[in-house]
Amino acid sequence: MKRVILHIDMDAFFAQVEQVKNPALRGKPIIVGGDAGHRGVVATCSYEARKYGIHSAMSSAEARRRCPHAIFVGGNLTNYVYISAQIQDIMNDYTPIVEPTSIDEAYLDITESYHLYGTPEKLAQDLKDNIKKRLQLTCTVGIAENKLLAKTASDMNKPDGLNTLWMNELEEKFFPMEIRKLRGVGPQTEKALKRLGINTLRDLKDYPEKKLSQNFGLHGEHLSKMAHGLSDTPVHSFEEMEDEKSMSHEHTLYEDTSDLIFLKSLMITLTDKVVARLKKAQFLAKTVRLKIRYSDFSTITREVTLNSMTDDVNTIYKTALTLLPVDDVVSNKVRLVGVGVTKLHEAVETPQIELFEESSISKKGKSGDVVEDIRDKFGKFSIVRASSLPYRWEH
Ligand SMILES: [Mg+2]
Repeated sequence: MKRVILHIDMDAFFAQVEQVKNPALRGKPIIVGGDAGHRGVVATCSYEARKYGIHSAMSSAEARRRCPHAIFVGGNLTNYVYISAQIQDIMNDYTPIVEPTSIDEAYLDITESYHLYGTPEKLAQDLKDNIKKRLQLTCTVGIAENKLLAKTASDMNKPDGLNTLWMNELEEKFFPMEIRKLRGVGPQTEKALKRLGINTLRDLKDYPEKKLSQNFGLHGEHLSKMAHGLSDTPVHSFEEMEDEKSMSHEHTLYEDTSDLIFLKSLMITLTDKVVARLKKAQFLAKTVRLKIRYSDFSTITREVTLNSMTDDVNTIYKTALTLLPVDDVVSNKVRLVGVGVTKLHEAVETPQIELFEESSISKKGKSGDVVEDIRDKFGKFSIVRASSLPYRWEH
């Protein structure tokens, strides 16, 4: 059966919330986050400010240069989280399958419920009206048969938009798009694709998949599938994620970064912590999950299921590494990294090993591999004992 997925994206969320709270700010260029704290970057800005070329993650100094009369607002994360929860409540009135992907974005699977409203478009309009009526906030909704196209549809039509991207509209709306607009195509991939003469999604779709795979490995296959508008990732409801037995560790960076060495080292530390907990609880994991939050607060979670259950730090780290979207990480700075394991089962027998202690590295060849790999690639100072890393990085 054809699925119907919505992607809801609140328009300039933090700025809108501030404008609702203080009507004197309405219709004015508002910058949230800029002046507050040590970070000195724009968390988000109103559409009035965007007209001056200001965008999320820009330095406040640059934003002030572009629009000297912009109003800087410190922002109140607690309030945003509170309102985000209210939006989720409203979305839950339309379907139980709601997957929030950030504080102001979510996917909804309305396959089973849209007929109650007549059409998917009517359900989406009702949802938009409801959010507007109850919270005075506008959002943009994309409607399609899968998550990839729903997100693309909402990106096309901001703010206060409602846009469909059905399979029969791809010819007109999707295939003419430039390749860099496709999720997962960062500057590196874009350059490489252009070298092959691929400029639009149509070029990418028509390019032989075999040749793409030769150039990009597994990513090539994925790119080809996306260029055809295909994606079968299900919408995971929040409850479903909560119920699942899982263990994870996350770390919010002191400063956003695109430094791969740093991020990989951080992933080791996080894996180390996860594995320590796994072993302590005597569990084995079947699935490895990586979470990345970018400086604009957009968040991705990727996971892969292993062939067999494990509590081996080497296996879990290397698996997490295959999930790292290197292109995106380099082109968008990262704010938070999380490594986790799910699908846990009790282990029959788990030897207690302290990971990354000198003794275990020298005695246990396998644990040492990861360390040596990284040292080979990135130099001997790229990895030190896990427990000392946060100190080294954050001061
Ligand atoms: Mg938004």
